[in-house]
Amino acid sequence: MAFELPPLPYDYAALEPTIDKQTMTLHHDMHHGAYVKNLNAAIEKHPELGKKSAEEILRDLNSVPEDIRAAVRNNGGGHVNHSMYWKIMKPKGGGDPTGPIAQAITKTFGNFKDFQAKFNDAGAKQFGSGWVWLASKGGDDLHIMSTPNQDSPLSQGHYPIFGNDVWEHAYYLKYNNRRPEYLAAWWNVVNWDEINTRYEAFKSGKTVLEPAMSHR
Ligand code: MN
Repeated sequence: MAFELPPLPYDYAALEPTIDKQTMTLHHDMHHGAYVKNLNAAIEKHPELGKKSAEEILRDLNSVPEDIRAAVRNNGGGHVNHSMYWKIMKPKGGGDPTGPIAQAITKTFGNFKDFQAKFNDAGAKQFGSGWVWLASKGGDDLHIMSTPNQDSPLSQGHYPIFGNDVWEHAYYLKYNNRRPEYLAAWWNVVNWDEINTRYEAFKSGKTVLEPAMSHR
């Protein structure tokens, strides 16, 4: 009975040259792997939490027993954030957004280029480790936000439509300290089909988008 590390939906080298094989291997196997391991170790002390999905737990951190709350916030966040991250990227991705998310971005931000610039800027300005997100509070709301560490927008009542990981472990081997270069290049591997799937599921009221997030 444990949360599980989802396999990468493509080869470790599949996102080259945007993200190199070594970064993907370490990031998925070691970093995400550690979040899953540490989340399971925390939940073991309070197995009643296992009845909820990781997304549900993050939505209500106050209900998590205090002795494991920080561990669940960090490692549960790490698990949910990364499970999304692998899926919203793909080889030969990128290009202009398509489908309902394209319309929503245009409606809110005017055009894709302006949205991209604001998203990249928020990612560059996130001090230290964290994430930059396109999130929604519901209805037609769409906004850019960033979070420190592995904090999930879910814990603040926002739904993460998609996000980019700006921890150094996501880019440092290839881009060194040049985070803005990674942020700019990352759009070449974005999977708009998956982002539309997440957006439409959220719009239709699904509260748990990742069945694999459930405790088994
Ligand atoms: Mn990461």
